[in-house]
Amino acid sequence: MTTPALPTTEALRERALTSLRRVGVTPTEGSDLHARTPITGEDLFGLAAATEAETEEALEAARTAFLTWRATPAPRRGELVRRLGELLRDHKSDLADLITIEAGKIRSEALGEVQEMIDICDFAVGLSRQLYGRTIASERPGHRLAETWHPLGVVGVISAFNFPAAVWSWNTAVALACGDTVIWKPSELTPLISLACDRLLARAAEDTGAPRDVHRLLLGDRAIGERLVDDPRVALVSATGSTRMGREVGPRVAARFGRTLLELGGNNAAVVAPSADLDLAVQGIVFAAAGTAGQRCTTLRRLIVHRDIADTLVDRLTAAYRKLPIGDPFDEGTLVGPLISTGSLDTMRDALDRAQAEGGTLLVGGERRLADRAPRAGYVEPAIVRVDAQTPVVREETFAPVLYVLTYDTLEEAVALHNDVPQGLSSSIFTRDQQEAEYFLSAEGSDCGIANVNIGTSGAEIGGAFGGEKETGGGRESGSDAWRAYMRPATNTINYSSRLALAQNVSFL
Ligand code: NAD
Repeated sequence: MTTPALPTTEALRERALTSLRRVGVTPTEGSDLHARTPITGEDLFGLAAATEAETEEALEAARTAFLTWRATPAPRRGELVRRLGELLRDHKSDLADLITIEAGKIRSEALGEVQEMIDICDFAVGLSRQLYGRTIASERPGHRLAETWHPLGVVGVISAFNFPAAVWSWNTAVALACGDTVIWKPSELTPLISLACDRLLARAAEDTGAPRDVHRLLLGDRAIGERLVDDPRVALVSATGSTRMGREVGPRVAARFGRTLLELGGNNAAVVAPSADLDLAVQGIVFAAAGTAGQRCTTLRRLIVHRDIADTLVDRLTAAYRKLPIGDPFDEGTLVGPLISTGSLDTMRDALDRAQAEGGTLLVGGERRLADRAPRAGYVEPAIVRVDAQTPVVREETFAPVLYVLTYDTLEEAVALHNDVPQGLSSSIFTRDQQEAEYFLSAEGSDCGIANVNIGTSGAEIGGAFGGEKETGGGRESGSDAWRAYMRPATNTINYSSRLALAQNVSFL
């Protein structure tokens, strides 16, 4: 089933310009990078990238603004974030339009991404009154031990194309509440939504009297990211993207003793036990595997199904896949929009060829769609491949909608298969057996940063900390106590007696 037509590039350009205008952005035309839409695969207009001089100026400005911002009481810093949240609410539809135009997300997911930004602002406003330190029992009489959390400095945010706005907001709302300033290097594939977010934050700063330079945007390619990576004025580099990128960024920041927060690739799996509610499992699996055209870091990429139910489940999934509406992401009926580029189509094709060469059977999908109407766009049928073992291609993240199905006999075997990949982001189990669920969540179970029961691997709420282990990078962002990565703790020992007592009963003088 396909949608009948796609919007023209001209119509999308007009729609993008209208949304930008409503947000207050007049893009500076240039030829360094191109705003582009995966809906038709064509360029919208050219933009100017940040020059070396502008990058240097932004670094200095963010560093200087930090000196004021860190001394601003945290609840007042929260007022800036509250205002940002209000502006995001006012412009929810415009921002979602830009996300759909640039990243190709279907309307409901694009609106969901903006909602996530609003939610993290609400969270960070509360956080601005809850940057708690602990009081610790001192071993010495007349002493008090305490822990104080201070702002860290300039945070460099490097973000990926697939969550072009939400990842920025997770970092920025929390960093600003924590007293840091932010320099943002967004994906070169999504400059327009970045311009809109930066403008709204500037307006929030104007409205609340915060320094404009608490946030700076630098449009450009990875060279600008590398500049943030190497500059000692950037205290924390929060980088979201491929494991390849993290492998370059991590050691470079460590070499200058900077901090990193890495949110990298996933290879997420769901275990489906014989007791699972299959109606619920099918819904959860199809959303997690085919939603966002398989372009979430938390996309379900491996399904580990008990042998007794594998054929039944696979039949139901292939039937559901055959009915997925693929096409214009603005069309209300569409569930699968375009891949970000035709390059991703090639990557998917390559993975499917390799999977079959490694013994897998393609059960459904993999065909290109709408090539006649949009030859430069990457529309594709999500695919399911049955495999006997975790061959090399199954162990890699292919950033496209390919779901590998494996079978198991014992839960221990399922968990071993589950954990036997280099990545460790998200995981889930579908079961109605509490013992199985608890085993999966236990220390012997899933080794991922996210482990779910009876929901898919994608679609996290902002209240929990988000991130993963192993080659996913180990970072945690968003809720819970992820804020600690954006601050530095100081341990304070206060002697309120008139005697100098040394720790560990050491005597001296
Ligand atoms: P990418 O790695 O190609 O690019 C991400 C960002 O890093 C871009 O802004 C890019 O310009 C920059 N960059 C690339 N190399 C760099 C370098 N050497 N130094 C500094 N900056 C550099 O990723 P992408 O294709 O935009 O996004 C898809 C990937 O992101 C997938 O692997 C996905 O799993 C991952 N991702 C992870 C999370 C998470 O939270 N774990 C979230 C979203 C996306």
